[in-house]
Amino acid sequence: MAFYINPEECTACGDCEPVCPTSSIYSEKGMFKITKNTCTECENDFDVPQCIDVCTVDNCILPL
Ligand code: SF4
Ligand code: SF4
Repeated sequence: MAFYINPEECTACGDCEPVCPTSSIYSEKGMFKITKNTCTECENDFDVPQCIDVCTVDNCILPL
């Protein structure tokens, strides 16, 4: 179970990167991405996925 960042919607603001408890969010060539193998959907750390909580763009972070 993991999320991905929709490149069509992401504004590359970077707000999601520091809030991820598993350090699964990274930027590459100006695009923000989620490492699917380490994204836990925040299950063991928080009640809600922190990246989705902080992202202000609708339909930007979606389930794989
Ligand atoms: S759902 Fe949680 S673990 Fe997955 S990328 Fe977002 S903040 Fe990180
Ligand atoms: S918070 Fe949302 S818009 Fe900003 S970089 Fe992350 S996914 Fe993209």
